Amino acid sequence: MRSASASPRPVSCPTSVRLGGFVPLSTVDWPDQLVATVFLRGCPWDCLYCHNPHLLRADAEGDDDAPSWPEVLEFLRSRVGLLDGVVFTGGEPTAQAALRYALRDVRDVGFAVGLHTAGPLPGRLAEVLPLVDWVGFDVKAPSDEYERVTRVAGSGRRARESLRTLVASGVDFECRTTVHPDLLSLDDLARMADELESQGVHRWVLQRYRPDGVRQGLAAGRDFDASDEGRAFVAALQGRFELVVR
Ligand code: SF4
Repeated sequence: MRSASASPRPVSCPTSVRLGGFVPLSTVDWPDQLVATVFLRGCPWDCLYCHNPHLLRADAEGDDDAPSWPEVLEFLRSRVGLLDGVVFTGGEPTAQAALRYALRDVRDVGFAVGLHTAGPLPGRLAEVLPLVDWVGFDVKAPSDEYERVTRVAGSGRRARESLRTLVASGVDFECRTTVHPDLLSLDDLARMADELESQGVHRWVLQRYRPDGVRQGLAAGRDFDASDEGRAFVAALQGRFELVVR
């Protein structure tokens, strides 16, 4: 990564986003797209299975390897025609007020924008959606059971409002749910299916829990689709959603 001082154009935001990491090439963060992935710091929630717990505090020290935003922009300018887009993930990208400036910067360079969010800040999501081409939306639990996963009161109401805003926006999206058997039962998943269907969700990705990078506290557990009952449950969902299990 070259020096920020070599950037030919200043960053458009007076307060730049705080990065926790940058992946210059990813094939997995946006389906069928070749992207660079920007990890932003901060998240108001505290899921036990978070894969990036070191990013949850926006003000934490110690990301010496993370590039600055001007360095990322300079790299992106060198990849025009080679990448399809840029995905913002985290942490929770909407936790940073400067996100909208970063999204505009990326669009100005000429890339499509993908956003990973769990929807803890519905107002901020509504603000940035006009700048976004695709959203990967994390759905944690039935809306009245969110606290079990996020460990923050009122999180289900916020997530539900965010999903409603996302669906109404017309922006392309998929919902994703990480299924840990101690946190979500098949009954919970059935309730979530009803909620998502009623909200107009068509594509739902069920992700088996993987312990890589998470904090201590959750046993690995048995995959939700390892039993006959689980497999039958997944088969029954296939007719209701464009369903992916991974
Ligand atoms: S919402 Fe996402 S980033 Fe925030 S704690 Fe949960 S898994 Fe981690």
